[in-house]
Parts: sequence; C-alpha cells; structure tokens
Amino acid sequence: MVTVSRTTVAVVGGGPAGVVLGLLLARAGIAVRVVEKHDDFNRDFRGDTVHASTIRLLDELGLGARFRRLPQSRLDDFSLPMPDGSRLLLGDFSRLRPPYDHVAMVPQWDLLDLLVTAAREEPSFRISMGLAATGTIEENGVVTGVHLRPYRDPDGPVEELRADVVIAADGRDSVLRDATGLRPRSFPVPFDTWWFRLPREPGDQATALVPAFSGTDVLLSFPRPEHHQVAYFAPKGSDAALRAEGLASFRERVARLRPDFADRVDAIASMDDVHVLDVRMDRLPRWWRPGLLCIGDAAHAMSPAGGVGINLAVQDAVATAAVLAPALGRGLRGAALDGTLAAVQRRRTPPAVVVQAAQAVLHRVVFARAFAGALRDGPPLLPVLLARYVPPVRGLYARGIAFGPLPEHAPSWARRPTV
Ligand SMILES: Cc1cc2nc3c(=O)[nH]c(=O)nc-3n(C[C@H](O)[C@H](O)[C@H](O)COP(=O)(O)OP(=O)(O)OC[C@H]3O[C@@H](n4cnc5c(N)ncnc54)[C@H](O)[C@@H]3O)c2cc1C
Repeated sequence: MVTVSRTTVAVVGGGPAGVVLGLLLARAGIAVRVVEKHDDFNRDFRGDTVHASTIRLLDELGLGARFRRLPQSRLDDFSLPMPDGSRLLLGDFSRLRPPYDHVAMVPQWDLLDLLVTAAREEPSFRISMGLAATGTIEENGVVTGVHLRPYRDPDGPVEELRADVVIAADGRDSVLRDATGLRPRSFPVPFDTWWFRLPREPGDQATALVPAFSGTDVLLSFPRPEHHQVAYFAPKGSDAALRAEGLASFRERVARLRPDFADRVDAIASMDDVHVLDVRMDRLPRWWRPGLLCIGDAAHAMSPAGGVGINLAVQDAVATAAVLAPALGRGLRGAALDGTLAAVQRRRTPPAVVVQAAQAVLHRVVFARAFAGALRDGPPLLPVLLARYVPPVRGLYARGIAFGPLPEHAPSWARRPTV
C-alpha cells in the first residue's frame, strides 16, 4: 500500500545542512518535513568541529546558551610540529574577537539534537527518522516529491511525499542527486582517513590542534570530553595493506606518531575499532533541477582537511532558507522556483570553490609531502616565514578557518533573543 502525504518543503537528510534548513524554514512558518534514514544521530566519526561562523549563527538564532551547555572542548589555535620538537603557531584564534575566538569540538549528535529540539518548537516543523528516500517523483520534468521507505525494512510500506520543492541534503552519496541525473565533478584526494578512539587522561593537553608526522603517515587527534577522537591519514587505497599488517603494527604506527599515546594504544582492541573513511572531494556543476536543489555535501563533498564541511553545509542551509522562504511566501512553486534555486547556487558556489581550492593546496603542501616523507625536515618555508615573522598572518589563517569566505547570517525572521 502507498501512503500519500504533502508538505511545502521536503528536506531529505538530517545532517547539519538538512536540520538547519528545517529549523529556519519552520521559523518562517513554512511547512517543512525533514526525512532522515537513520533512527538517531548517534554516529561517531562524522566530524564535530563547530566553527565561529556556526557559533555566531547559533547566537543569532537564540540558541547560544543551549549550545554552550553542551559537553565540548575548545580549540584555541592550530600549529605544525617543527623538526627541533618545537611548534610553529600557524593560526591563533585568540586574535579574533570573543566570543567567536575558537573552534568548539562538540559531538555532532549533540548539535543535531539541539537543532531538532529547537525546530520542534515550531508548529510547521516535522522530522521523520528511520525513513529513506529511494527516488524522486517527477511530473513534466519537475520534481514534485520523493518516494520513502523504512531504512531498516526495504520491503516496508512506501510513502509518496509530495512537496512544492525538494531539498537534497542527503550527503556525499546523495540518492536524489543520482536520481535526477546531476553528476558531480571529482577532484583528486591523496589520502583516506582511519578513525578510532583513545582514552583521555586528566593531564592531556587539550586546546591545540597539532598534526603528527612520521615517515609516511599523519595523525591528528581531537579532544572530546571523555576521549580522544583520532584520525590516522595514509595514502588513498592503503586500507587492505594496513589491515593485512595487523593490529600490533597499527598500534606501533600510532605510538610512533604520538609517543604520548603509547601508554594507551592497547585500547584499540582490534582492527574493527578502526573505521576507514574513503575521503572524496567533488562539486556539482549544477546544483538544481526544476523542483529540486542539492545543498551541503550533496552539492560539494568536502575533504576533512581544515574541518570545514559541517560549517559550509550549515551556511548553505542558511542561504537556502534566506532565498527560498521569501520566494515561497510570494507563492512561487515547482518550475517557477528555478530562478530561486539558481540564486542559491550562485550565492554558495564561490565559498565552496574557495574552500575546496584551499583544501587542494593543503592536500598538496601538507598531506602529499608528508606521505613522501618530506615533512620530516619541517613544513614548507613560505608559510613558516609568514607565520613566524608576520604575526597578523596567524590571525588571517585563523579568520579563514573560523569564518570561511562569505559567511551567512540568520535572516531577521529566524532570529530569537538569546536566553
Ligand atoms: C573523514 C571525514 C571527516 C570529517 N571531519 C570533519 C570535521 O571534523 N569537521 C567538519 O566540519 N567537517 C568534517 N567532515 C566533512 C563533514 O562531515 C561534511 O561536510 C558534513 O557533514 C556535510 O553535511 P551535510 O548535512 O551536507 O551531509 P551529511 O552530514 O552527510 O548528512 C547527510 C544525512 O543524510 C542522511 N541520508 C543519506 N541518504 C539518505 C536518504 N536516501 N534518505 C534519508 N536520509 C538520507 C544521512 O544519514 C545523513 O544523516 C569530514 C568528512 C569526512 C569524510
């Protein structure tokens, strides 16, 4: 049996992009339904850096106090290790104006829960967990809805969700993007990432982000309140070889990269605790089709370099709400929204291009050189000289990471006083 339902905006994907868009549209009084295939947000290793641009947005939305109550740690700067054991301070967030002078490390599920709780306070918001979009419904070349099925029960009941506009916020493997024939252009990425957890001890240093290089691999750890979330980087396609080498060898690699972790690498009980993520970077030449718009990773999958993906996805959502809500308010629907969807792409393509270009430089200058063993002699000279002898550069690097290009602000109708 097929159930047919209706909403004004169907948002597929309850990641940062989908949930923020749902909240903002609901605050404009627009009927919006977010559909998320998982039953909850409790997935680890999704990235949890909340940058200053997102913290400022949360303040504008009146959610700053709730956000600051979430368990979190602060990242006050980022540095590169030097061959003599010292650290080169590259980005100094303390040069930015408080309270937007740091990156907050917050488990992504806590952030998403907070946003959904706020959105549920709006009568026009609805979220359906455990439902997956399997394809689009089209009429005369216009997307007019999506087919939904229970994610855990592909033979379960089908729902046809009809909508005036569909937003594909379903991440880098977007089903809706594929269903509508939108094809991203891929950019080379020289590495994959392996994620795992290590226990956090009381005396562990917590506020700086310093990658560790050794021979041909890289390690980065993010302090969480109770543990370290650790990312191990190695050349793309090395997963099979790494697993064939076995657990003892992997623990040795980690201990070599971070001798201060040598006392706890036994916490990696098996290679099943080490989760590989195929890192990709791509971008759609065209983000929309009549009736459908891709945002966030569905429009531009981000590399983890710089940890900006969540924040860029959130900014896409803000721009979409700012442009779409007034157009829907004017009664535009379906193909009449073409100009609106194109306007979102025009507004958000430049930041995506700039950030991906910066990530490509990081891939070449840091990761590819590290894998070639070239960083043992220290980082490239130019950034070193700039960061060491032109201190304002540290503030510029920090600003670039914290806010990114063309940061968005909450539209006036979505703002609430901070409680
Ligand atoms: C290894 C790695 C580490 C990263 N680390 C960071 C970091 O530290 N900081 C950072 O800012 N960024 C990081 N990123 C990038 C960041 O994770 C993404 O850019 C960001 O999550 C994109 O948000 P999104 O909402 O567009 O998509 P996603 O976060 O991918 O959300 C998409 C949602 O859609 C749901 N979904 C998918 N298909 C369907 C369907 N058919 N029906 C219904 N729901 C569906 C998914 O379950 C998911 O919840 C990292 C990326 C990688 C690969």
